[in-house]
Amino acid sequence: MPYKHVLAAVDLSDEAAQVLEKARAIADSHGAKLSLITVVKPFIQAYGGLDMVPLTKGSDSFEEDAFKRASQQLWDKAIIYRVDHADVHVKVGNPAREIRDAASGLEADLIVVGTHGRHGLGLLLGSTANAVLHGVGCDVLAVRVRVSE
Ligand code: AMP
Repeated sequence: MPYKHVLAAVDLSDEAAQVLEKARAIADSHGAKLSLITVVKPFIQAYGGLDMVPLTKGSDSFEEDAFKRASQQLWDKAIIYRVDHADVHVKVGNPAREIRDAASGLEADLIVVGTHGRHGLGLLLGSTANAVLHGVGCDVLAVRVRVSE
């Protein structure tokens, strides 16, 4: 059965292109809609719960600033990968949870994420792809991303 709605989760690293290319190709071959999501981690999460006070930079907090920059970067990618502005989603929170919730809210039937195929300590620490699988209600494609040296 062809997929109808593919949700590509991207972290805006250099590796995002590999996830986006695969997601675009699958959406095209299935005649499916493609949506994009990136999740901005709250600073308390990004910095492992360090005792931080809300800092301000100009009129925006750093989180607001990070949100705006993530939105702009994802919109730029959306143009390259032919995704409508309305289908670009930027959330704040825990990436795996937000990706799952977005997939369910958007009724996506396939989530595309990257994976590094970690082993050893990296495996123990877990990965976003693994975390997305817990309690997900649709198919998940983990794209093996190659790290550029
Ligand atoms: P990681 O396991 O954190 O190295 O991430 C692997 C993949 O999970 C990335 O290639 C993305 O597909 C997805 N991912 C990780 N972090 C985020 C994020 N903040 N927002 C959206 N997707 C993410």
